[in-house]
Formats: sequence, C-alpha cells, structure tokens
Amino acid sequence: MKKISQSTRIFIALFLGVAAGLLLQGHAEFANEYIKPFGTVFLNFVKFIVGPIVLFSIMSGVVSMRDIRKVGQIGGITVAYYFLTTAVATAIGLFVANLFRRTFPVIETGSLTYEIPEKTHPMDALVNIFPSNFLEPITESNMLQVIVMALLIGFAIILVGEESDKTIEGINRWNNIFLKCMEMILSLSPIGVFCLICPVIATNGPKVVGTLAKVILAAYLGYVLHALIVYSFTVKVFGGVNPVRFFKEMLPAIMFAFSSASSVGTLPINMECTEKLGVPNEISSFVLPLGATINMDGTAIYQGVCAVFIASCYGIELSMNQIITIVLTATLASIGTAGVPGAGIVMLAMVLTSVGLPVEGIALVAGVDRIFDMGRTTLNITGDASCTVIVTNILNRRKSVRA
Ligand code: ASP
Repeated sequence: MKKISQSTRIFIALFLGVAAGLLLQGHAEFANEYIKPFGTVFLNFVKFIVGPIVLFSIMSGVVSMRDIRKVGQIGGITVAYYFLTTAVATAIGLFVANLFRRTFPVIETGSLTYEIPEKTHPMDALVNIFPSNFLEPITESNMLQVIVMALLIGFAIILVGEESDKTIEGINRWNNIFLKCMEMILSLSPIGVFCLICPVIATNGPKVVGTLAKVILAAYLGYVLHALIVYSFTVKVFGGVNPVRFFKEMLPAIMFAFSSASSVGTLPINMECTEKLGVPNEISSFVLPLGATINMDGTAIYQGVCAVFIASCYGIELSMNQIITIVLTATLASIGTAGVPGAGIVMLAMVLTSVGLPVEGIALVAGVDRIFDMGRTTLNITGDASCTVIVTNILNRRKSVRA
C-alpha cells in the first residue's frame, strides 16, 4: 500500500476536526472536556521538545560554522528581513481594513470594558532577552534567552579550540537524539491537529463569528495577500525558490499553525518543512526560533485591521500621522508578542494607546480572537520559513563567489 504523506494525513485530520467541530456545535463542553485534553497532551510534548531542540541545534550549528562572524551575518539579514516584512504587513492590514471600513458593523461601545494589561517599560524587553539563570530559559521556554545561551556556549566552544572536540561530538550526538525525539512526537501530528481544531470549531462556530464576519474577512484577506504577494516575491527573488514549491512544502506547518495558534509550538514541524526546502539545520535552528519570537507579520496585519475597526466603531477617522504611528507601533508590538495563543491581543492595547484609541475597544474583538489568531499564526510561521530560504540562498551565493 502506498504510504500516505504526513502532509495529507494532517490535511485529513484538519478536515475531520473541522467537520467533527461543526457536528459538536451544541456540545462544546464535550469537545472541550474530552477532545481538547488530547490536543493539549500533544502540544505539551511539542513544547517539551522545543527547548532542547533549539538549544542543541543552535550550538551544533554555531560550532559547525566555526566562525562567529558568519553567525553575525545570518543574524543581521534575519533581523532586517523580519523588520521590513512586518512593516509592510501592517501597511497591508491598514489598507485592507480601509477598503472594508464602510462595510464594518458599527457596534455600540458605551458599556465596553477591557482590563488593560500591566504596562512594562520598553527597555524591560531588552533586559529580558538575557538570562540570569542557567536553567530558567529552558524551564520557562523563553526562546530568546535559549538563543542567547546557545550562542554564548557555542562561541565559547569555538574559542576553546581543540580541547572541545569531544564536547562538539557530544553536542552533535545529543542534537541527533533530540531530533529523533522530535520526529517521534511529530508523527502524532494528525491526532494533535484533530484534537486541537475540533473544540475550537465547536466553541467558535459560524454563529459566534456573526457580526464580526467582515472584520475577520478583512484580516484573512490581508494574511492571504501578504503571503501571496510579499512572500512569493521574496522567496522567488531573494531565495531562488519557486513560490508554489515553497507553499507546498510548507503545508504541514501551515495546517499545524492554523490548528494550534502557536508559532513556538509549530517550530519543530516548521524545521522539518524548511529542511525539505533545502535549508540546512544550522540556519533553520537559528532563524526559526528567532522568528517564532520576534517575527509576527500576521499579528501586525491583525493589529492594523483591528485598529481601523475599533476606530470606526467609535466614529474616529484616523489621520495620516496616526496611520504612520500605527505602522511603527504595530511593528514593534508584534516583535514583543510571544509566539503563543492569544498573545497578539495583549499587544493590541499598546497599538491603540499609541494613537489615542480607547483600549476598551479590544472587548469588541476579544470574543473571536482565536479565529483571528489561527490565521495570523499561520502567516507568522510562513514568514519565518521564507527568511530561512533567503538566508540560505544568500550564504550559498557568497560561498560560490568566494570559491
Ligand atoms: N498566536 C500567535 C503566534 O503564536 C501570536 C499572536 O497571538 O499574535 O504566532
């Protein structure tokens, strides 16, 4: 019998999960009580493996490059790409939202309340990148701290030189062991996807979408446009990869991100997909975790759309100055958004405050956040993957110029 590919199995699971969710519409508690836990078990497994995978793959990648400058180059290209594409994403979000503005529902805002999250100083975000404890980055799955830790140890291993040969061998072996663990866990993806999506659909079925359908549609149109225009262009021009092939190989990760709404949770499967696109582990292991924490194009689009929608509900017309401020703050806010479900809505408060829009307006979209989140996470991880293809191509070209 011909083996069904992982991507087909995930697709079938997604389809069955949506169908089961629709059937269980009146019994959302059942889906939440008895199906969701299996999804959570699977997601727990994935989260469990993310820390060691990132730590060991980055260390193994850095030591195999044996060149600290090369790591700096990869970092530079990655951060520049992430920043630029996110700014474009916010602009697309604002553009689409303005196209739809007249059709947006006007909801009564008088009695809205929203608890504003505690304010943190922008410098805290910088300070928090650097771990103060050896184990905490792993125990708390703080990806940026894991990256810093892996880079520091990796650089030290290079600088120690010959003495660390045995350590390098050990790191590579552990890396292979964790990659095997990841493969075993990911073989359960179809079950995970089914159990994650079914309760979401049972709880947020078509009825809940209701009046907000147009706003959700605007956000999804933004996600699709960004993927089809921006990523197709960058992947083709800077990455030298056919966009059709890119999206085809990315399908398992795309479906997984859609069901889990977590960029960090999708990391392992994203690594597998980019490997099929010819990205070496030393690049994906650095670029993807960084992207899962700082690159959120979908979140930026969502913030742009919601800002326009909330403004229209309050009868506020956004000025050019406010629009520019939204592009800047949404770009920064999406960088500060963690790659976990529901993180984007918290940062929306920052965007709204920056242009003087009432933060209570968040209550308008909070009920269907998960629906926005599934799409924005999907775009977030696709953006991360597009960067790996580009970095790989640029480094390959430099190598061949030097040779
Ligand atoms: N759930 C998103 C992610 O993991 C973050 C967000 O809520 O915008 O990428």
